[in-house]
Parts: sequence; structure tokens; C-alpha cells
Amino acid sequence: MEASTAVTVYVVIAPHPTDLPRLSESLGLDEAVGVQKAALDLAGQWVREHRAVALGEVGLPHFAVPPATAEAASTLLRHALEVARDADCPAVIHSSDLDAGGFRSLAEVARRAGFPTRRLVKHFARSVVPSSDRAGVVPSYLASRELASASIGTEAPWFWETDYLDDPGRPGAVLDLATVPRRARHAIERAPSNREALRIPFETSVRSVYGFTPARGPGRST
Ligand SMILES: [Zn+2]
Repeated sequence: MEASTAVTVYVVIAPHPTDLPRLSESLGLDEAVGVQKAALDLAGQWVREHRAVALGEVGLPHFAVPPATAEAASTLLRHALEVARDADCPAVIHSSDLDAGGFRSLAEVARRAGFPTRRLVKHFARSVVPSSDRAGVVPSYLASRELASASIGTEAPWFWETDYLDDPGRPGAVLDLATVPRRARHAIERAPSNREALRIPFETSVRSVYGFTPARGPGRST
């Protein structure tokens, strides 16, 4: 669809970690883990075939689950990071919101899996934690008005996002797709010097995390 919309979509793919508890109710935990593992392996294969650019969302359920499920989720996260390591791609992490300690333990999981933290994206970040306290993990801030203005001007790398939900029964549950460009436009209108700061989410972080320069639509002039 690129010709008609001038939009290039980069796919990030994985079985979602919150599906594990639900799946284990119907299949039993062992089989549910097997399904998620196989899906992670398939996602890694898709990255190697250039049908996707990263693994995600992978991570841990953000709500309380039985201890055996929590343990299985940790094992799956480790497996996900090993798959991402072998496919040489970033991993986009789903988890509860992280403070300095949370970033540290996530970085430790990555270290044990031999996965570089600079390619670890904490999706749906809602706290602006100084980069010195993030153990190398890259935050993707929810682009609410408040977080957008709190994060702009902070040290690279970081992203803005809207999250995504493919549930037509819950309209408005996530920010709409136009939010990130709208926030960027407003930030520049407010202070033209923000244009430079916005190279972080739109260019330099894409390069340092994903390893490529994002495509530019034909309408863009700068
Ligand atoms: Zn998520």
C-alpha cells in the first residue's frame, strides 16, 4: 500500500506474553509454553526472512499470575531474547511500568541471554527515568501530552508510541495513530529548537536500536 499512502510499515511480531495465562487455562501450562515457544521461534524466522524487523511484544504479564505461570513467563522471556539475539534484531518488551530497579532486572535478564540492552525497548513506558538509571534499556514513552513534554529534551535514546490494540469493541482504548506526529508538530510549534530533539525518536534511536534509517515519505521536504 506504500504507493497510495506513502506510509511504510515495519512489522514487530511475537506471541503476546499476556496470552500465556489465558492459553494455559485451556491447554494446561506446559502445552501453552510449548505453543508460545514455537511461535517465538517462528517470529525469529520471520525476522531472518525480512518479513519483520523485531520481536515484540515479548515480556511478562503486567498483572498477578500464579507462581508457576510467572516462572514459565520468565523462561519464555529468556527464550524470546535468545531468539532475538540469534535473529540479530531488537526486542520490544511488555511489562508493568519500570523504575530504576525494574530496568536493572530487565537488563540482567538480557545479560544472561547474551542480548544487548541497547536493542531492548521498554514499550508503554509511563515514567521518565534518567538514562543513567535505565541500565541501557530504551524507553518507548506513551505519547500522552504530559509524557511527551516530560520526555522531549531528555538524553537519547527513546521513542514515543501510541500502543496498538486490534479490538474494535474497545474504541479509544489506546491513543490514535496520528498522535505521535501531532505531538511532534506541536512541540516544534511551541519551540522550534525541539526540531533537533525530535531527531532522537524519529532518526537516531531508530538507527541505534533497529540498525536502519527509517524510510521517508515522498511528501517530506526536510
Ligand atoms: Zn504491551
